[in-house]
Amino acid sequence: MTQRVHNFNAGPAALPLPVLEEVQRDLLALPGVGMSILELSHRSSTFLAMMEEAEANLRRLLRVPEGWHVLFLPGGATLQFAMVPMSFLAAGESADYLVTGTWSAKAVKEVARLGKTARVAFDGKPESYVRAPVTGEVDVNPHAAYVHYTANETIHGVEYGEPPAVGSVPLICDASSNFLSRPFEVGRHALVYAGAQKNVGPAGVTIVLLREELLSKVPDGLPSMLDYRVQVDEKSNHNTPPVFAIYVVLLVTRWLLGQGGLAEIEARNREKAELVYRAIDGSGGFYRGHAQPESRSRMNVAFRLPDEETEKRFLAEAGKAGLAGLKGHRSVGGIRASLYNAVPKAAAEALAGFMEDFRRRAG
Ligand code: PMP
Repeated sequence: MTQRVHNFNAGPAALPLPVLEEVQRDLLALPGVGMSILELSHRSSTFLAMMEEAEANLRRLLRVPEGWHVLFLPGGATLQFAMVPMSFLAAGESADYLVTGTWSAKAVKEVARLGKTARVAFDGKPESYVRAPVTGEVDVNPHAAYVHYTANETIHGVEYGEPPAVGSVPLICDASSNFLSRPFEVGRHALVYAGAQKNVGPAGVTIVLLREELLSKVPDGLPSMLDYRVQVDEKSNHNTPPVFAIYVVLLVTRWLLGQGGLAEIEARNREKAELVYRAIDGSGGFYRGHAQPESRSRMNVAFRLPDEETEKRFLAEAGKAGLAGLKGHRSVGGIRASLYNAVPKAAAEALAGFMEDFRRRAG
């Protein structure tokens, strides 16, 4: 077999090895079915059972409350940036957005494209997106149609410890890059969405959890694919859904349950992140973490080196040492190590060891 590297990609990202092995083993013929998942009808009983189990596993992992729907939608998290205001923000209403990085800023832009009103209730940009708001800092408009926030900013490595307090205003969360990485209070929200390609599967499917009451706000006249009511009624099978991606989501959720669920995964993720942050904090200023310590992401560790030349050398040498995917997003530069669920502790240890060694040689 070709050697696998330590994969620190931000998304699409590392998948659990046992999941990839199962996909490979069963790719030509699913046991008992005799055809590939790539050849299977989306209306077959086999696939409908897969969707049902994937949904049940998500409900179990996240303790999704009664009265919530679980959807598997196309279009990425980016389509949710639009579907949310199209569905829940009427003319004359305003929605509050907490802007903690590139992704929440993009969500705001999408509202503006629709000619609707987003009020920025927290703007992290003047501080270069180094933190999430602290409790009491966000001045929520009590009449807002909803409050939208990004649980983890994938590019800046800024993560909320807890969902923001917004009183009785419906809370909507883009959880794309920390979904299923830790226990999460779904019930404090009205809608939660996450593109699969970080912690849950391959690109091509977005998981949406939403509270039943919210559906009464969806206006008539939307294209059927963009109408949450249609997607709920048709059980995410209104058109041909991304069959393969949903199959892998099923395998990943099985794997997560087998690992002991989200509390166990959280403990491992905390340990992995600590290894890398310790290498930053113990470097005497050679490595500089982007996020303020209380907002540090466990999923995406973003940091800088003394200068861009040294960063280039770091990336080149890391690549040679089998550490891949460490280049920071093109908009911010620097280094970013993504430590999603499927990244093993050994990878974080290898990275921390490499960082110490590199600093000794270059510092
Ligand atoms: N939100 C966050 C937090 C993300 O990290 C990303 C993708 N990196 C997106 C939204 C956009 O997701 P997609 O590419 O699935 O549309």
